[in-house]
Amino acid sequence: MERLQKVLAHAGVASRRKAEEMILEGLVSVNGKIIRELGVTVDPKQDEIKVRNKKISFENSVYYIFYKPTGVITSVSDPQGRRVVMDYFRDIKERIYPIGRLDYDTSGLLLLSNDGDLTHQLMHPSFHVEKTYIATVQGVPTRHKLARLEKGIMLKDGMTAPARAELVTELKGGQQSQLRLTIHEGRNRQVRRMCKAIGHTCVALHRERYGCLTLEGLKQEEFRELTKTELEKLK
Ligand code: URA
Repeated sequence: MERLQKVLAHAGVASRRKAEEMILEGLVSVNGKIIRELGVTVDPKQDEIKVRNKKISFENSVYYIFYKPTGVITSVSDPQGRRVVMDYFRDIKERIYPIGRLDYDTSGLLLLSNDGDLTHQLMHPSFHVEKTYIATVQGVPTRHKLARLEKGIMLKDGMTAPARAELVTELKGGQQSQLRLTIHEGRNRQVRRMCKAIGHTCVALHRERYGCLTLEGLKQEEFRELTKTELEKLK
């Protein structure tokens, strides 16, 4: 057991002196009870300590970029026993989780972390992180249809925000084509639904970019930690 202010300082919340002030101001709770005096001792492994109602983590923050293959669920576990993203991270001791999700049949860039603040920030629509996808669709959309995607298109959960859409290449003599779509929203199956809405069913989807990050240097099923510079740019 250790004094609360010392534990807070170790967790990087504030200096010990500042942590004492925070306790006296009633900003700190232990197991749901606000603590206002300085003599309290806690066990950081057992007790739930919150500052301004936010849980304090005693783990180092870690950040991973993962090249997700298709056929894997973006989840920590699956009741049906299918392969999940976390299967690749069994040796990581921190309690990380995926930031956002890619569909079972989507491949590409996925971030994982145990940093709740960053997750919250990246997932918030106002933060506008750009995500770029390569969508293989049936047929070849006209310029006019791509312009509709760029302007915003009506889906059952409302208009999409303006996006970028370009034709990358035609495939199979025009039976299919590849589009590059950049969006900054993150609705469920959004890219697939956007393609469907212009009459071109998406048959494969890959995320090649998330904010400043790309998959360069990674093969499918590989992951690596973000560099300090990447993390700073992302924030
Ligand atoms: N949009 C989709 O439709 N699927 C994904 O996995 C990601 C974005």
